[in-house]
Amino acid sequence: MASLVYACGEFLKKAHDMGNIRRGRAKDRRSAPVSGGEAKGGFQYLFGPVSSWRLGASLGIDLLSQEKKICNFDCLYCQLGETRESPEERRVYVSTEAVLAEMNEMPEDLVIDVLTFSGRGEPTLARNLGETIRAVKEVRREPVAVLTNASLMNREDVREELYCADIVVAKLDACSEAMFRRINRPEPGIRFADIVEGLKRFRFAYRKGKLALQIMFIGENRDCAKEIAGMVERIVPDEVQINTPLRACRESPLSREEIDRIVSAFGTFPMLSVYEEERPVVRSLTPEGTLRRRGKVH
Ligand code: SF4
Repeated sequence: MASLVYACGEFLKKAHDMGNIRRGRAKDRRSAPVSGGEAKGGFQYLFGPVSSWRLGASLGIDLLSQEKKICNFDCLYCQLGETRESPEERRVYVSTEAVLAEMNEMPEDLVIDVLTFSGRGEPTLARNLGETIRAVKEVRREPVAVLTNASLMNREDVREELYCADIVVAKLDACSEAMFRRINRPEPGIRFADIVEGLKRFRFAYRKGKLALQIMFIGENRDCAKEIAGMVERIVPDEVQINTPLRACRESPLSREEIDRIVSAFGTFPMLSVYEEERPVVRSLTPEGTLRRRGKVH
């Protein structure tokens, strides 16, 4: 831990030394275009802002940024195609310093709601996730979110890193080991019970930020909303996000009527539903980089 704090301190000092890192915070402008200038240089690790139904204008930070998706799941509905690379150990793919350098190149008038760690795979597989979250929070004032498949939530070091974020959106698509294996198709050593236990532990300790559970409904789990809602009750998130794959992938989305029926199974939890939420109009700083993170170009 001491070395992590030291390493983080070094990056923070460098971030301050860079100076001139711009800060912005969007006001309520759900239907107005977000202003944004052209990038001074190319962006390899930052992408978007994307128009997110959950987060608003979301500037992506991809700590993986590899040609091939890096993930320990192979979800039926993944928009990035099949998983071909699933590392056994966490490792550094993109340095924290490189991310900060790109932040320093962001146009001054780029207005964003949230900085989101996501991209071409599972962000917690990047060993420097916690370090980069802390460094980014030193130089920007927008909230920091992490989208995770929750596969490493049972690890204390990963939970510690995620505590640094303001928003954690964790995946929970199943209510049993068998369903988990059919939908998320994890690496053999990953167990559903460990994920649920990790989420409960995380919830217990994570009080300053928002924990959202994202549930992707497809044909495989469409009839299990009540059982999944039962699991959600035991984890006690701040929000439940009901999703179905509207972007092109191997699975067909459920209809609005089906999603409405599913939403009603979740009772009084604060809810977001993919069919109901508005999306802000945004202009992307990195059109091609954004499409790559959405599996539209390879
Ligand atoms: S966890 Fe995310 S990146 Fe990994 S396979 Fe599932 S949808 Fe794709």
